[in-house]
Amino acid sequence: MDTKTLTDQYIFNTYKRYPLTIERARGSWVWDDRGKKYLDFFSGLAVSGIGHALPPVVRAIRAQAGKLIHSSNLYFTEPAALLAKELCRRSFAGKVFFCNSGAEANEAAIKLARKWGSKDGRYEIIVFENSFHGRTLGALAATAQPKFHEGFGPLPVGFPVAKFNQIDSVERLISPRTAAILIEPIQGEGGINPAKAVFLSALRRLADERKLLLMFDGVQCSLGRTGDLFSYQTYGVTPDVLTLAKGLGGGMPIAAMLAKEDLAHVLGPGDHGTTFGGNPVCSSAALAILKLLSPKLLKNVKNQSEIILQELRRILGSKSHVWEIRGVGLMIGVELTVPGAPYVDACRKRGLLINCTQTSVLRFLPPLALSALERQFALQVINTVLTR
Ligand code: PLP
Repeated sequence: MDTKTLTDQYIFNTYKRYPLTIERARGSWVWDDRGKKYLDFFSGLAVSGIGHALPPVVRAIRAQAGKLIHSSNLYFTEPAALLAKELCRRSFAGKVFFCNSGAEANEAAIKLARKWGSKDGRYEIIVFENSFHGRTLGALAATAQPKFHEGFGPLPVGFPVAKFNQIDSVERLISPRTAAILIEPIQGEGGINPAKAVFLSALRRLADERKLLLMFDGVQCSLGRTGDLFSYQTYGVTPDVLTLAKGLGGGMPIAAMLAKEDLAHVLGPGDHGTTFGGNPVCSSAALAILKLLSPKLLKNVKNQSEIILQELRRILGSKSHVWEIRGVGLMIGVELTVPGAPYVDACRKRGLLINCTQTSVLRFLPPLALSALERQFALQVINTVLTR
């Protein structure tokens, strides 16, 4: 049986998969089971952020796997400790909690906010229309997109929904029960919607005045995507809590919840945990990724972004089926006035992997190490497919 048939027979049908079996990958490229090559302009959904199978990351994984794959969180392990130190050194944080996925990192943030607010009966976390925070029940309740909730109720309560980029809608929701605000600085699944800098600054002021935690979900938009290591640095607005996943392990499953040192006391032994959190092999991969996220690479993100946005506007700006072109760094969306799926298929047939979210937003998450030649190839395919 081929891979597709086996998958259909034995794996729950929870993903709408494209008809493509990927066998191997390197740098910005992936190969299918027939040897055809594709430019991964989607980076495995922002996971293989810099590129695939980066030699320093592969070396780190091999070396650590030969030494210690797992030991449990009942003991100390060096890679997790070093990774936490590096994340704190390069961010606002004083403490890190490691877990395995974006949803779990957000669950950790939700639990932190609830425990922090519990001393005075506060538990509500204000979230935003079109947000996406993951599929576990807490993260799902925080995800203000009703289509994801259908059939899974009752969900945890306490997630009032504000309008994105509208500060008065947030102010109106604050009550004696409010503990925190949770926001993606750039909504990904919601359709590549960047927050306005003034809005994030206003949220910071509001959180300070009303003594709330400001929590950023940086799962999709951090780790170099915006041209800075963390998206909050691009905006110049520092949160109290930041969640990371996707690009952190370069494909290894590792996620983290970062918090200011003042919040260190909130979670103590037994309050939270997960068996694989801070796994030595995943932590070693993440350490290698952080080393690769150098100022030179981040500069490449900003340069490539500027050229891609400029070119997309030049090629597509006047097309009647293109509604808007938007994005920050290498997180770019082209909103169409028609469904995007046929364009995704046409790009794939020409060797370019992209995706579509919210039915009509073509989403580009190119590798951060994208070269000029790769960019030209992608733009030429997009031009051919979208201007037909
Ligand atoms: N938060 C954001 C902003 C995301 O984009 C995603 C996944 O797309 C998640 C959380 C959930 O991450 P995971 O699928 O690793 O649980």
